[in-house]
Amino acid sequence: MKEKKFKDIETKLIHSGEPDPRVQGAVSMPIFQSAMFETRKEEGYHDIQYIRLNNTPNAQALHEKLAAIEGAEDALVTSSGMAAISTTLLTFLHNGDHLLVQNCLYGGTHDFVTKDLHTFGISYDFIDGNDPESWEKKRRPNTKAIYVETMTNPMLEVADHKAVVTFAKKHGLVSMIDNTFASPINFRPIEHGFDLSLHSGTKYLNGHSDIVAGAVIGSSELISKVKHRLDHLGGSLDPHACFLLHRGMKTLALRMKQHNESALKIARFLEEHNAVANVNYPGLMSHPQHNRAGQLFDGFSGMLSFEPKGGKTAAEQFMKNVSIPIITVSLGGVESLLTRPAATSHSGMSPEDRKKLGITDGLIRVSVGVEATEDLIEDFAEAFEAIRTIASIS
Ligand code: PLP
Repeated sequence: MKEKKFKDIETKLIHSGEPDPRVQGAVSMPIFQSAMFETRKEEGYHDIQYIRLNNTPNAQALHEKLAAIEGAEDALVTSSGMAAISTTLLTFLHNGDHLLVQNCLYGGTHDFVTKDLHTFGISYDFIDGNDPESWEKKRRPNTKAIYVETMTNPMLEVADHKAVVTFAKKHGLVSMIDNTFASPINFRPIEHGFDLSLHSGTKYLNGHSDIVAGAVIGSSELISKVKHRLDHLGGSLDPHACFLLHRGMKTLALRMKQHNESALKIARFLEEHNAVANVNYPGLMSHPQHNRAGQLFDGFSGMLSFEPKGGKTAAEQFMKNVSIPIITVSLGGVESLLTRPAATSHSGMSPEDRKKLGITDGLIRVSVGVEATEDLIEDFAEAFEAIRTIASIS
């Protein structure tokens, strides 16, 4: 039989990691809903197949597919994005260690770093992702890792990722990046020298807003260390959720194409609208890191944030007056979603900390879905009409 070669990410998403030969000829990966698998001969602990040990067929197929699409040696799926993040941090940081972490982060990660890490004897310092010169002053002899997000949530800042990799290699730090917002279609961190790429699989990877999942991708050596910790902490993904994630991933390339194109058009529409104070989207020429994002990414994703004129009241009224997007947290699904981070994902941060990062009470985060772009733009335009007086525009 002809050897199978999967060169491009679109092909790898469909074919990498699929059982070969197919199980009973099944074209789609069946669900192996079994907690453990029979051991037939004299075997040791490492031969045990058990869902929590992350080595049963649905998880393994995903490990291969995820590693293939981000050009890595290995991967792991986890029970949520936070399971991927917390397990990875607790694998490489121990009592007495120090972490350098980007100052603008997903709220859950921010809370874990600021409220939980100290209970494990781990300290941290925030760094400005755009000021590599300032990192050395924050590094300590016990610094072990550096952690950033591909595009920050919700400001869509793009850190100097090249400098992160160089700094980590120079000082022997493990470099970790949350690649959720970009998705592997737009950015593949391992190809750029990062040690570990993390995902909330709940978002773009699955894409259908119906599961919670996570992933860690990297070298076999580092992934085996994370697996050891994950086996003990227990944040493993169950076979049924694996099946849904697997199915969702098959259309990732198609979905991201629409997310990328539609978000760029919507960001341009918002930028030109006289009821909008500012728009954050790396695909806009006005974005402070637009050139860097253009060099690093194959697309700018479906995530953007903007602030209508008129602050919190205008933002709340705008959200009441849209009819297509759903007002809720999370992101990366086929449905467009709106949320006000100050009230939801970043409510755990103090108002002062939010202010420093530009997360105002009137900031709206948009996860652009795959609906028709023109329908979304028309809906937004109508919502702006409804807040004309609050936004003080004629
Ligand atoms: N990383 C980012 C960028 C996120 O936005 C989220 C959730 O919103 C997470 C990680 C956490 O993922 P999960 O909710 O799957 O635990």
